[in-house]
Amino acid sequence: MTSDLNFNSAFYEQFECPICFEYFKLPIHLCSLGHSICNRCKERSRNCPQCRQPFVQNSRNISLEKMFEQISKRCKFTECSSEVTLDQWHNHQSECQYNPNLKCLECGSSEEFLINHLVRNHEYKEISMEQNECLRSFSGPMASWHSNTEWPKGIWKFGEEYLVVKAKTHSGVFHVYLYRISKNLTAISLEITNQDTGSCIKFKGDIPHISDYIDLSTNPHFNCEIKQLMTFIKVQEDEQDTYKLSVKVKKKDIGMYIEEPIMEVPPLNDIEI
Ligand SMILES: [Zn+2]
Ligand SMILES: [Zn+2]
Ligand SMILES: [Zn+2]
Ligand SMILES: [Zn+2]
Repeated sequence: MTSDLNFNSAFYEQFECPICFEYFKLPIHLCSLGHSICNRCKERSRNCPQCRQPFVQNSRNISLEKMFEQISKRCKFTECSSEVTLDQWHNHQSECQYNPNLKCLECGSSEEFLINHLVRNHEYKEISMEQNECLRSFSGPMASWHSNTEWPKGIWKFGEEYLVVKAKTHSGVFHVYLYRISKNLTAISLEITNQDTGSCIKFKGDIPHISDYIDLSTNPHFNCEIKQLMTFIKVQEDEQDTYKLSVKVKKKDIGMYIEEPIMEVPPLNDIEI
């Protein structure tokens, strides 16, 4: 087959992985019942997601892979005029200079709908927040607070506004990283209070954009030594071995800060006790 044949969209759909609905990422693997699955999805599944049968070791859909090297398609970004063979599809899209998509902070792939991708592929949980104020918590056994731990990853949804949230305990410090998806500037405050003593740790500032994501970055983010946090971490009432840190989250439009003198906004990682 050559690129000068005109294929319709139903034809190209045959080349989409049934799990991630994108063009197969090579090599294409086969389960024992003959379902094809792309390499990216295979790496995340032990059994075939379609029929639950195990994959046959080293079993690949070679004929489909061969077609991928032959069939080409115009790049999906309208301003780009490149014709790309399907085996080069993923590489081209992620490097294409016309790509307006966001890069996934977990696997580096370029995604038009990053939120859906994070939920489907990286176990991010979408959490609807109240419009401007909400209580969130991080909980786990005491050992998780004291060892290096990746806390469950979340997407905090304030109406149409999404914040990607990652929390880590690393070398005795608890970190919360927040990144915004939208271009609009967003400011946030996180507040931890000990109800018994009334003491409080506060963090506020504006949120960096997801395209500036750096793992364990030194960028402003909430961080606090576990030693300091210990008086705020409470045993969960219904689960004896679970220790919970409750955080009051408030979202502010950056405009609200602009009304006030900017200088009064403390730096992002400023901790008040
Ligand atoms: Zn796939
Ligand atoms: Zn199968
Ligand atoms: Zn392109
Ligand atoms: Zn990813």
